[in-house]
Amino acid sequence: MNSKITGVDIYYYKVCTRKLWYFHHEIQMEQDNENVKIGKALDEESYSRENKHINIDNVINIDFIKSTKVIHEIKKSKKIEEASILQVKYYLYYLISKGVYGIKGKIDYPLLKQSLNVEINEEDFIEIEKILGEINCIINKNIPPKLEKKKICRNCAYYDLCYI
Ligand code: SF4
Repeated sequence: MNSKITGVDIYYYKVCTRKLWYFHHEIQMEQDNENVKIGKALDEESYSRENKHINIDNVINIDFIKSTKVIHEIKKSKKIEEASILQVKYYLYYLISKGVYGIKGKIDYPLLKQSLNVEINEEDFIEIEKILGEINCIINKNIPPKLEKKKICRNCAYYDLCYI
């Protein structure tokens, strides 16, 4: 297991490998992005009574954990749900790798008043380990992956960097 790969890296891997590379190389434009501001505000206002932001080894940053042993990840929309699911699976993977068993995952969409349960199985373990290898290859390169136009580019914090 590579302890340097964070939950955000895993999320960005699924969203866009170029974004992953930028982020990992500390090219950060997220703070000016409107979507990111909304996400942060939502994060601060949601579930105010919960014990929030549990950072483990600077690798995974869980939004909050309920006494029912459920870890929660808060998202504002379902647009890139596949990436969110992988991120929560990585949290579970990481916790199990550290000997923490019996934890479940949940993605909360407070704006939609919906949630999604996330579990991890053996196939996910294999898949995550493969992805960790791929992420290492991507982030260790000196240049970002080739630009591949996507629908999400318009709303991406790195848009100017990719398209100018
Ligand atoms: S603008 Fe598009 S290609 Fe560039 S980092 Fe964002 S999502 Fe990836």
